[in-house]
Amino acid sequence: MRSRIIALILIAILSGSAIVYSVINPRTPGTTEPEPPIPIISLNSTVHILDTTTYKGDMINMELSVEVNTTTTLSAIRINATDPKYNRQGSQMIPLNLTLDAGQLTTQLKISPAFPDGFGMVMAEPDLAYQIDSYTLFYNNSKNYIKTGMINSQLSIMKNTAYDQMDHLDWTVPDQTASVVASAGTLNITSAIPTTFTLSTLINTTGYTRLNYSLSIADANLVMLVDNYTLGPIPENYLPLGNFKGMHNLTLTGTINTGGSLNMSLSLITKRVVFFTVIADNHWAGTGTDGYVFRDPSYYIQQASSPFENVFNVTYIPSKVVHTSTPDSDNLVDYTNTVLTEVGTALNLTSDIWTIGSGTFEQNMGYDLLLVFTNVTMQHLGIVYGNQTGAFNLGVHSRGSHYTGNYRLPPVFADNLIQHEVSHIFGAPDRFTTTSPPSIMTKSTPDAALGDILRGTFWLYQTSWLEQDIQTMTVVLQSFYW
Ligand SMILES: [Zn+2]
Repeated sequence: MRSRIIALILIAILSGSAIVYSVINPRTPGTTEPEPPIPIISLNSTVHILDTTTYKGDMINMELSVEVNTTTTLSAIRINATDPKYNRQGSQMIPLNLTLDAGQLTTQLKISPAFPDGFGMVMAEPDLAYQIDSYTLFYNNSKNYIKTGMINSQLSIMKNTAYDQMDHLDWTVPDQTASVVASAGTLNITSAIPTTFTLSTLINTTGYTRLNYSLSIADANLVMLVDNYTLGPIPENYLPLGNFKGMHNLTLTGTINTGGSLNMSLSLITKRVVFFTVIADNHWAGTGTDGYVFRDPSYYIQQASSPFENVFNVTYIPSKVVHTSTPDSDNLVDYTNTVLTEVGTALNLTSDIWTIGSGTFEQNMGYDLLLVFTNVTMQHLGIVYGNQTGAFNLGVHSRGSHYTGNYRLPPVFADNLIQHEVSHIFGAPDRFTTTSPPSIMTKSTPDAALGDILRGTFWLYQTSWLEQDIQTMTVVLQSFYW
């Protein structure tokens, strides 16, 4: 070994003196032109954080500045961070694919709050100062150049809070005999004589919207319109505005039959709910013996997210993939018990096992939800733990069911299956087309299945929920406390 080191040093010395020699003594006699200089790449870089606070689930804004003396390709950057509470390190790789000429470049980076490499970690807890430690910049790929540097910034996560749009509205009150005092979420309408009133405002709905209100008198003959669409029948204390995404005109008309006054308080509350989701994956993607070609679970989770986002303002962030063993029986409960330990080990959780139960658990170190996927035909297509009163933190999905005649799930239904099982997590029960209208929760009895498929009322064709289930899920969702 020592002789090899000595040999290397010798080569280095010799090649060094060869360069010096050739510069001093140009090889081509008779010319005065010097040899071109050996190109030396110099790269200076800094990375810093732009905002020191962010809401749970939001991307983190950072800035990368690079200065080079020659054309350089930046391929990727790895950001390393620490969770001070659990002393967990995590990192994530962000592709850059930038080529810059000699000079300086400053570019914005959007970093995910999930750092999936290694044991994985997520920046989930409010009022905790996460540490963004350092970075590794990968450039000129063919030469495998890297540059490391410190960041040393702290980032605090804020809890997503409820936002009441009614506190920020401007009401338009046309001339009328009634006197209307409208301020934000409160309306006072008075009149000495029986009269009708109309008032309107613009609302910006994020999706499915429920307007809550209270009335001082019951016989106001109140009618509410979104744009020109009359809503009704109006329940006692809330109004399902339905799935109106974007800016809309909300109009209230009514009558004060008795003369006198009508007091109304209104609230239109939205609150973002974020789930850092762990994916336990047993060969879900790929071509099965059935010939169906499936993509990664995260693809179908993103598809299933959109109804949740529209209706509940819920976002799923696929945060960590754990590859799990193949089931040794067709029982999903048995398989799940195996997976819980495999996930606990892969995430290096303090309890060595994923803790299941109602809501978000501290033992799961910031992760909210575990979704399990296997391509094996099991007894059931999916299960959730618990008694459907939620909120549980585990859903399991298979690509086939022995229970329903070895049915294999086509890829086009994968997002619907995920939506169905995750809805159980939030307390929505199974329903049947024989007794309930079509919805993602309304399955077919064996006798009704063919008719439901032909009519398009089959549950795996649906993406909507019944109003009753929306109410249940809205309450249950709030028990995920982060
Ligand atoms: Zn079900």
